[in-house]
Amino acid sequence: MSKVVKFGGSSLADANQFRKVAQIIRSDRNRRYVVPSAPGKRSPDDTKVTDMLYQCYDAVEKGKNATAEFLPIAERFDGIISDLGLTISLDKEYDKIAENFRKRAGRDYAASRGEYLNGIILANYLGFEFVDAAKCIFFTSKGEFDADLTDACLASVLGGYSEAVIPGFYGAMPDGTIKTFSRGGSDFTGSVVAKAINASLYENWTDVSGFLAADPHIVENPEVIEYITYKELRELSYMGAAVMHQDAIFPVRSAKIPINIKNTNAPEAKGTMIVPEAPENTNKIITGIAGKKHFSVISIEKDEMNAEVGFLRRILTVLDNEGMGFEHIPTGIDTMSLVVSTEELEAHPNTVKYITQVCHPNHIEVINDLAVVAVVGRGMKEKKGTATRIFAALSHANINIKMIDQGSSELNIIVGIHEKDFEKAIQVIYDMFMLSE
Ligand code: ASP
Repeated sequence: MSKVVKFGGSSLADANQFRKVAQIIRSDRNRRYVVPSAPGKRSPDDTKVTDMLYQCYDAVEKGKNATAEFLPIAERFDGIISDLGLTISLDKEYDKIAENFRKRAGRDYAASRGEYLNGIILANYLGFEFVDAAKCIFFTSKGEFDADLTDACLASVLGGYSEAVIPGFYGAMPDGTIKTFSRGGSDFTGSVVAKAINASLYENWTDVSGFLAADPHIVENPEVIEYITYKELRELSYMGAAVMHQDAIFPVRSAKIPINIKNTNAPEAKGTMIVPEAPENTNKIITGIAGKKHFSVISIEKDEMNAEVGFLRRILTVLDNEGMGFEHIPTGIDTMSLVVSTEELEAHPNTVKYITQVCHPNHIEVINDLAVVAVVGRGMKEKKGTATRIFAALSHANINIKMIDQGSSELNIIVGIHEKDFEKAIQVIYDMFMLSE
């Protein structure tokens, strides 16, 4: 019954937040393995320590003095140490870091020191063992995360400690060089640790009380999702709704370990449970709504397209050659729409010309300003009329639907609309499902 608890940057931004974190950990003896981020913002206009580290390293690369540039970062950590009344000194660590900056240890090394130093302080404060992630989280020589080696090493190292702090965000290459995951990567570290120790639960502590059913900038006070499956989360995160790094579900998913998103500032709130299978007793059809703007449709028309073998393959070969992805390909009998990101299409301006060359369509045009809205919910498989209700909501709001796509798993219905209708569409779909259930 061990739990892995990961705390984000805002949860560890200052001594007061550290106290809340310690209280949370001490209130449950199963919270034994702790993964901290670097100190985040204390107020909206504050700077995250990770960003300070990047800036500091860049300044040193431009010839500035490492010790002097590192000073504000050292002061931030020293402030936490003294406010907590701890007696440790990190001066030797600061000297070593400045020295490594001078030796050009790399931007990843620089960024990783936020988690590293925060981990040392937190371990000291909690009385837990400090385990450097460089000793048990590994990348291959190609820079890919080495899941097998990491899993075996973490399991054996952590097996030796009943309680430990493992800093998030980084690991080591085979030659010992420090490498980080992408931004927000401590979420991934937490998941990796949870898998390695076969945790009963991975708690991800942040500053919101869970995953919201819609973007709060669009819908006022949207409800918190109580249960969401890994698959639903993938769909919603992909469409831009995120409280967690989007890769963080993968390590725990294979081990079927649930993730609980919790709020450090409101620990009594249940938060959101991310689970392999959700409990049956839910009567919700829709779990959440998310969407993205800035898509384009390449609309292709050709007589007897349906009889032409290899038509789609030729189009996909063009995209392949261009190194371009696509979002959706709704098809008709003699028509096909390729939904692609406008940014990607602009980066590959010859795409339409190449498609024309390989397919000889009767008509091809690009329609811009498309937004895509995904209505996601495991409940829609069992219930009739979900699409009707979505379309009714949009039609009452006078919103024209330009594209419809339903995933084969019946987990989502995706509609393409004009960008100007984006916010309104999310609001009316939310009202249709969430306010009436
Ligand atoms: N501190 C890193 C960042 O700001 C990693 C993390 O917080 O997960 O991206």
